[in-house]
Amino acid sequence: MKVLFIYPSADSQLGFNYGVAHMAAILKRAGHEVAFWQLCEDIEPLPTETQFVERIVRERPDVLAFSVVTNQWAYTQRLASWARPHFSIPFVIGGVHALVSIEEVLKTGLFDYAFRGECENAFLEFIDRMQHGESVRTVPNLAYLETSGNCGLRIPDCGAAHGAGPQSEIRNSKSEIRINPVGPLPELTRLPLKDYESMDFQRMIDAKDGWVGLMASRGCPFSCTYCFNHVMVETYKQDLQCSFKELNYIRRFTVEQVIEEIRYLLGHYRNIRTFIFDDDLFTFDKAYVKEFCRAYRKVAEIPFVVNAHVGFFDDECAADLARAGCKIVKFGVESGSEKVRRTILNRHMSNESIVEAIAAVARHGMHSSVFIIIGFPHEGREDVFDTIRLLGRARPGRFRWTYFFPFPGTKSHQISVQGGFIDFDRMQQLQNFTDQSCLEFGAEHNFLLKKVGRIMPWFVNAFSDLPVADFYRNKVDELLAMDESEWERASPALLDEDKAYSQRHSEQGLSHYAVKYNRFMGVISDYFLNER
Ligand code: SF4
Repeated sequence: MKVLFIYPSADSQLGFNYGVAHMAAILKRAGHEVAFWQLCEDIEPLPTETQFVERIVRERPDVLAFSVVTNQWAYTQRLASWARPHFSIPFVIGGVHALVSIEEVLKTGLFDYAFRGECENAFLEFIDRMQHGESVRTVPNLAYLETSGNCGLRIPDCGAAHGAGPQSEIRNSKSEIRINPVGPLPELTRLPLKDYESMDFQRMIDAKDGWVGLMASRGCPFSCTYCFNHVMVETYKQDLQCSFKELNYIRRFTVEQVIEEIRYLLGHYRNIRTFIFDDDLFTFDKAYVKEFCRAYRKVAEIPFVVNAHVGFFDDECAADLARAGCKIVKFGVESGSEKVRRTILNRHMSNESIVEAIAAVARHGMHSSVFIIIGFPHEGREDVFDTIRLLGRARPGRFRWTYFFPFPGTKSHQISVQGGFIDFDRMQQLQNFTDQSCLEFGAEHNFLLKKVGRIMPWFVNAFSDLPVADFYRNKVDELLAMDESEWERASPALLDEDKAYSQRHSEQGLSHYAVKYNRFMGVISDYFLNER
């Protein structure tokens, strides 16, 4: 069987799909054929309808498999509806969006099957059974829309509502959603090396300026309300009738596996400049971090980047990472308001611990990066300024900000719905979390979020003890005083203004944050002026 994986990433940063890369390797090991297509402007222009259909015709897959995150759902529907009338092969969907919105996904009639959770083993079973003409109805993790009658397509023991017919027929047919329980989580130590070949990986490395993503683990011990981890854990606990401990949610590749993968990448690809570990929480196990750091130093001199958590980070961990060549440590801070973190996000940490973790990174000569989100449900003006004040006080190396997005299925979505905050039309259309919020707070707070979200580094400079604080305080006061029409005139020029101010302050030797690398990242000048 040949599977063509489609990974929509329109108007988004180019990312690596670890799940599909493992799945592709497993399929190939079992003798199947795999092709992979990531639709992202960073690689090539997005296809037109004709180009999309023609490429599928050229690939001649037996199964079309979409891997979808929620902000790509609108685009994915467009792609699937372009292809659906032309192909009678099964359309399958997986990824985070299928996990959190499985019924919505199937009810579109665009997809024959949907997979929930970590599906490496289940998807192989599905493809194997298809190849042998066996029923797929009992495959773990699988969901489908069962209709009465024969669809007439090339699918064994078909119970699914294949979308090759007009969608209205599907909506009108008598159908029922079948959702199978998930199977056990895959054991990472038994997964083969990812299939880099099908990903045209050299092109990805070059498009990402030499940054290569890796994962040494899966899972996280926390259950923040806005993250899909608690949805995964609840799904698995319920289906497998087990406790969190029995689930063994946090799993690691062995250090040997990770080091082997690094050796493989360095041996097969050019221009790798930085490894970035996308684990939810790389520093969870101190002993593992130590072992990895010792081993890494022996095989690579390339700097690397990790995700940490302020509750799992101290000087000893910082020292190990720094000695091994870690360049950047990233923390999810999200909000500077302890009240918002505790009551809305289920994140229990103090501002003091955040300041201390960022300081520990700096003490060991590394650069810290924090994630910030604005526009949470029930967040008020002072909460937004608490976030800005915390950044000004903690002085991370960089911060990256987005607007809050209430992922369906998460607790934060429920909180947003119950509070009446969501503008569902806007939510449907959003493809990224940086341009606007899909929550509605009323004109005054919406306007504040728009201003802060446009040029957050000015706000942080203004609320810091940096020598440029007074200058940016005046700028921020001007922005805050603008009405809608003044803002519409001024805002298109803000990024150019930021560049000009940054240049002037750099020439004067004054530390400051400026928008750098992308339009939603603020970076301290001491770092970007000293980059090699
Ligand atoms: S700590 Fe990060 S990865 Fe873990 S649940 Fe919270 S947001 Fe998700």
